[in-house]
Amino acid sequence: MQLQDILYSQGFGIRRVCSGLVQQGWVEVCVDGEMQRVTDSTLDLDTEGLKFRVQGVDWEYHEKGYVLLYKPAGTECSQKPSAHPSIYTLLPMPLRQRPNKNAIQGLQAVGRLDQDTTGLLLLSDDGQFIHRMSSPKKHVPKVYRVQAKHAVTAQMVERLLAGVVLDDDPKPVRAAACVQVDECTLDLTLTEGKYHQVKRMLAAVGNRVEGLHRWKIGGLELPATMEPGQWRWLTAADLELLR
Ligand code: URA
Repeated sequence: MQLQDILYSQGFGIRRVCSGLVQQGWVEVCVDGEMQRVTDSTLDLDTEGLKFRVQGVDWEYHEKGYVLLYKPAGTECSQKPSAHPSIYTLLPMPLRQRPNKNAIQGLQAVGRLDQDTTGLLLLSDDGQFIHRMSSPKKHVPKVYRVQAKHAVTAQMVERLLAGVVLDDDPKPVRAAACVQVDECTLDLTLTEGKYHQVKRMLAAVGNRVEGLHRWKIGGLELPATMEPGQWRWLTAADLELLR
């Protein structure tokens, strides 16, 4: 693929901007482990494992984007947030600009977390992946650490597992698993994602969510080394854990 098309596909702007970046000497390409400045924007390159540098920032080529973000509290999973900064502002511009065959640009969050919920959020521009991870029919388990206001009783755990009725649907929703961590803390596993589901389930059993943190999706855990607000590409091993 030509270098200008590679940069375009990775979100560095329209082709004219990308060829300008190259011609003005802002782009280096990794050849045999060494970064080399390239000024010919039509240079043909193999994209497999391609590493390059744009304006001093290192990048790697990804045909499709799969990213995990440690969502901090006080951020909204929306492109047009109403009261808090958008999670998309935590991503570098190329990830927000990657062109897509659909009208939508950039990576999209796989489902949403409330503004005060923290933890593991996936983003991608692969529509099939987004559907597979978020469709309730696919039953992908998502594990939430719940800080409850009141002590959690054995009866509450039983009811969460048996199913509770929420106000917008007569069909009960149940936790796939519910493990008590300490008096006021639970690990609740859900395989669907209704609006405010954890908060409404806890309210339905007479308790209240004071803190909510998602730490696992499928077999993938939020890496302990990551800080709120940080992102990284999903590796092939991560994607395998999400199969
Ligand atoms: N359930 C909730 O109530 N809030 C979230 O952010 C996620 C699941």
